[in-house]
Amino acid sequence: MSEEDYGFDTRAIHAGAQPDPATGARATPIYQTTSFVFDDTQHAADLFALRSFGNIYTRIMNPTQAVLESKVASLEGGTAAVACASGHAAQFLVFHLLMQPGDEFVAASQLYGGSINQFNHSFKSFNWKVVWANADKPRSFEKAITKKTKAIFIESIANPGGKVTDLAAIAEIARENKIPLIVDNTLATPYLCRPFEHGADIVVHSLTKFMGGHGNSMGGVIVDGGTFNWSEQAGKYPLLSEPNASYNGMVLSETFGNIAFAIGARVLGLRDFGPAISPTNAFNILTGMETLSLRMQRHCDSTLKVAKWLNKNDAVSWVSYAGLKKDPYHKLQKRYAPKGAGAVFTFGLNGGYDMGVKVVSNVELFSHLANVGDTRSLIIHPASTTHSQLSAAQLLKAGAGPEVVRLSIGLEDPADLIADLDQAIKA
Ligand SMILES: *Cc1c(COP(=O)(O)O)cnc(C)c1O
Repeated sequence: MSEEDYGFDTRAIHAGAQPDPATGARATPIYQTTSFVFDDTQHAADLFALRSFGNIYTRIMNPTQAVLESKVASLEGGTAAVACASGHAAQFLVFHLLMQPGDEFVAASQLYGGSINQFNHSFKSFNWKVVWANADKPRSFEKAITKKTKAIFIESIANPGGKVTDLAAIAEIARENKIPLIVDNTLATPYLCRPFEHGADIVVHSLTKFMGGHGNSMGGVIVDGGTFNWSEQAGKYPLLSEPNASYNGMVLSETFGNIAFAIGARVLGLRDFGPAISPTNAFNILTGMETLSLRMQRHCDSTLKVAKWLNKNDAVSWVSYAGLKKDPYHKLQKRYAPKGAGAVFTFGLNGGYDMGVKVVSNVELFSHLANVGDTRSLIIHPASTTHSQLSAAQLLKAGAGPEVVRLSIGLEDPADLIADLDQAIKA
């Protein structure tokens, strides 16, 4: 049986990995080395000219990273993947390949706060312009597209509210306009949602979150769907479809076909900007990924229990979790993430800002910190922390009003989590 024929759980453990050819080690070794010895001068020349694939230097490629990349590509159903230092590094490498100075992209305004910052502020230095659209209104993406638009960027399940995006509707708009759809699949993971099956062209992840799953290692990944034709529109994506001066005039899309995007992210992006993942972090994330299905299902089941309990609590004014039957995103969840709605959601407390601060201060089992996707349950009050610099109007737009608390439910006993929230609310 070939690797692609195995089921998801089997691939989470075995895809990309085999006993170490040098030692027979069964687990993937941490190849903690910066560089690799060439067979001879011809081998070295071939590697540098991309005439053959192989390890040169860990900034560009490393055997531990390679197993991680093959595993993620297999689970997402992409043609190839490139691992890097963080989720934000992955986003940067993606846009570097697509954008020239003066170009635009359209992004959903329902995004992880860090992505909003990256797009609004730091991308300005490259003269890359973000135009915001509303993930709840696919047509708003179409209206935002101009001749300079090079891509659309959305999240499958959106941070922080756990809202589910209509992937197929937005993919259709991307296809009609001949631009790639990039989906950040961090909160869903490929266990819950596989964006390529709904028309995405590129998937990115923060591996820091549920993929690694243990809150101990930073990582990111870019997955190439192999679906987009980079050379169809002459001059539109020059790094992918024009001769590259740093590789003797090689055209990536001609030489590498349906893995050209992944190759570009590696041999241009990682080579020149350098955000490589460390072999040790790649190993930690690989270990986490072996139990992805078990963990994600438990995360979802426990989250539904906590969300239902909060929904019945008199101190709580609303709960935003797509797994709840009456939630406005429940239909989309059934379509795009039928096994569960993930583990990150928000709720509102009667009593506003002071009550939000009080609950966060009084929890004992939940950790008060700015992360999601850990085995441990996490809590944050955005208005007094991550979003405290925003005006009242901006807070509301960001879904971070004064009464909003965000949870990321871990793998503890749900009864203990509920008891902790109960005592924190009553205290
Ligand atoms: C955390 C996160 C990122 C950024 O990833 P880092 O690994 O922290 O750089 C991007 N998107 C989403 C949805 C995230 O949760």
